[in-house]
Amino acid sequence: MQIIKSIDSLRQALAPLAKEGKRIGLVPTMGALHEGHGALIKASVSECDVTVVSVFLNPIQFGKNEDLDKYPKRLEADAKLAESIGADFVFAPSVAEMYPDGDPMTLVRDEQLEGMYCGAYRPGHFRGVLTVVSKLFLISGANDAFFGEKDYQQVFLIERMVKDLNFNIKIHRVKIVREESGLARSSRNEYLTEEERAQALGIYNGLKAAKAAYEAGERSVLKIRDIVVKSIVAARGVVQYVEVASQKTLQKCNGALGEEKAVILAAAFFGKTRLIDNMELN
Ligand code: AMP
Repeated sequence: MQIIKSIDSLRQALAPLAKEGKRIGLVPTMGALHEGHGALIKASVSECDVTVVSVFLNPIQFGKNEDLDKYPKRLEADAKLAESIGADFVFAPSVAEMYPDGDPMTLVRDEQLEGMYCGAYRPGHFRGVLTVVSKLFLISGANDAFFGEKDYQQVFLIERMVKDLNFNIKIHRVKIVREESGLARSSRNEYLTEEERAQALGIYNGLKAAKAAYEAGERSVLKIRDIVVKSIVAARGVVQYVEVASQKTLQKCNGALGEEKAVILAAAFFGKTRLIDNMELN
């Protein structure tokens, strides 16, 4: 496995492989890899001939008061993990390599959902994500790209971007990987104290209880949201949002749920750490 830091070198390494007709899979990450990322890499290795894992802490998707500076960084360990799963390349460019002229002038934006859910609390976040993901698609020329459902709004927006802008790439969704306790794996879990880690289960437990209520016939959006909110609050978390949205459009559901499949989206703080999670109601 090779670690590549420049765009030109990655293109040079991939061009002959693409020419031979090899299927190239891309797994975009911000590093501090864990089993959640591992599942994406595994999926790429099994579906594609060549797997590229990008490790890039993208500054333009972070707000001024967010955790860009304290985000965990460990490229060597990341490369080892990626290699152990079968990745062929780790692409780890610097900020100057990706944004040689400073913040880009051209941005990719979705105008409908960028201000909803996570976007409402992280202004500029999703345009930063869509812009860097577009760049990674164009740099790698990948045939396939793998994203986790952990970031539900993100994978939804990427799928729409690919459709809206005719990117020639297949997007694969990978299910959320959880710890044994149920806590969704996240690089940000490392910020949690032992106590907060136990409290953070309030999100998953709430989502699970809401899904159980749905399966038992509950259709009131208000009641479903309330189950999740109460579970987070009881665990001493601070709710940022809990919403029920259509899986197909990601627009908010109100009133009573009908036939359309929905998903519960939630974000909450445990101590200073902001965690997100979600659960589909199928
Ligand atoms: P990140 O490094 O947090 O930007 O995540 C990179 C990719 O890994 C994104 O597509 C995430 O959705 C995915 N991912 C992160 N955590 C998990 C998880 N627990 N389960 C599945 N996918 C995940």
